Amino acid sequence: MAHQRGFASPQITVQGNERLAQRWLGRQRCGKLLRGSLKGPDGGFYNWQVNTISAHGEGSLWVAKIQAWGRALGFSQIGIAGVDLASAEPGLSAWLAQGFHGDMAYMAAHGLKRARPAELLPGTVSVITARMDYLPAQPTAPMPETVCPESAQGPAQPAEQTTPGAAGWQSVELARLQRPQEAIVSLYARGRDYHKVLRHRLQRLSAQIATELTPLGCRVFCDSAPVLEVELASRSGLGWRGKHTLLLHRKAGSMFFLGEIFVDLALPPTMAVSAHCGDCRACIEVCPTQAIVAPGRLDARRCISYLTIEHAGPIPLALRPLLGNHIYGCDDCQLVCPWNKFAKRSLLPDFEVRDGLAGSSLVALFGWSEAEFLRRTEGSPIRRIGHERWLRNIAVALGNAIRQTASAGQRQPLLQALQSRQEHPDALLREHVAWALRENDGHPLSP
Ligand code: SF4
Ligand code: SF4
Repeated sequence: MAHQRGFASPQITVQGNERLAQRWLGRQRCGKLLRGSLKGPDGGFYNWQVNTISAHGEGSLWVAKIQAWGRALGFSQIGIAGVDLASAEPGLSAWLAQGFHGDMAYMAAHGLKRARPAELLPGTVSVITARMDYLPAQPTAPMPETVCPESAQGPAQPAEQTTPGAAGWQSVELARLQRPQEAIVSLYARGRDYHKVLRHRLQRLSAQIATELTPLGCRVFCDSAPVLEVELASRSGLGWRGKHTLLLHRKAGSMFFLGEIFVDLALPPTMAVSAHCGDCRACIEVCPTQAIVAPGRLDARRCISYLTIEHAGPIPLALRPLLGNHIYGCDDCQLVCPWNKFAKRSLLPDFEVRDGLAGSSLVALFGWSEAEFLRRTEGSPIRRIGHERWLRNIAVALGNAIRQTASAGQRQPLLQALQSRQEHPDALLREHVAWALRENDGHPLSP
């Protein structure tokens, strides 16, 4: 509202202008709150109220306490960001103007509100940022009883340490890409729904702040559309934005979730860190769909994560062959990132891999009935795409596997799986199944 009324940065008076804050403090302090009114450029008067702790030395002590509580709750790092993200607005506007958000209409609908936390939650003057490592604690090697190891590339090879310079887990995951009949679910989605895990713990953190430090107005966010998460996290020192657009940390790579608490508490911001991508372009070059159109710029419409999770309609024909065996999300740009050899295993059991979500064959997952899908994905982020979109994604992967499988005998179970869904009531799925079956026509690898 303040922006709409012509205030350029109303929070700065309490965050950065110590002299002015002290003057108000003297005149209008009310307990730990500052209250007052401002005259706007339009001539109107506006009331405001903020907590005053940053006007005192106790601010950094409070931040240290919040960070310690955050670590006790399983967060790997806690930072503090201000709310003036004006310098991020032109980039956001250009990204939206180019249509790179695809049919994620909510992104355009919120517009620049994403870069203005105080508009999203009036009274917000600081953002507590948090990151939590999610790499599953258990190795995620293929499960021999479910994986069909035969492919055009031959039997599955032991995957550990096959890629020079990569961590063992990276090599395991990269090897999956060479087994077209194996289904790949993005690593972050193999365990419990991170939205629930993070939101619950952020709420506990804000309750602790309210109980032990001061009453506060706040709201918790985790992967919520209106929040510029990476921008806030990078400004508060949780890492830098990599060329793949995700946040990177020198000691933790990028395999972590982000969350935020918007607060009406003026806390001193934590320091940003410098970027360390250097000349590397590995993520840009590996992307199967060329979705990273420039360093730090993603065309979501081409990104496999968007296509398999956010996009409800037909997957564009030109992109289907590029999806390979990804059926939910994509980690390719993170798998090749050299910083991810420092990625940390999760300390929480929540992110351990659920049965069937790593190392399963496409045929096995395509055979799940809707009831089985709902049972297996209860409490998982996968559930929200629904059974039909799940089958749509697997149908595309089956088509790709058919194209890459040399032996007619080995293609047979893939074709049978697809044929079993040819009469499915959902027209979108039927079209994807028909496309996948056509990949067998005039098969180039037929003996
Ligand atoms: S997630 Fe996959 S498709 Fe998306 S940018 Fe990264 S490599 Fe490309
Ligand atoms: S792969 Fe290279 S360029 Fe991409 S985010 Fe990692 S370090 Fe940066």
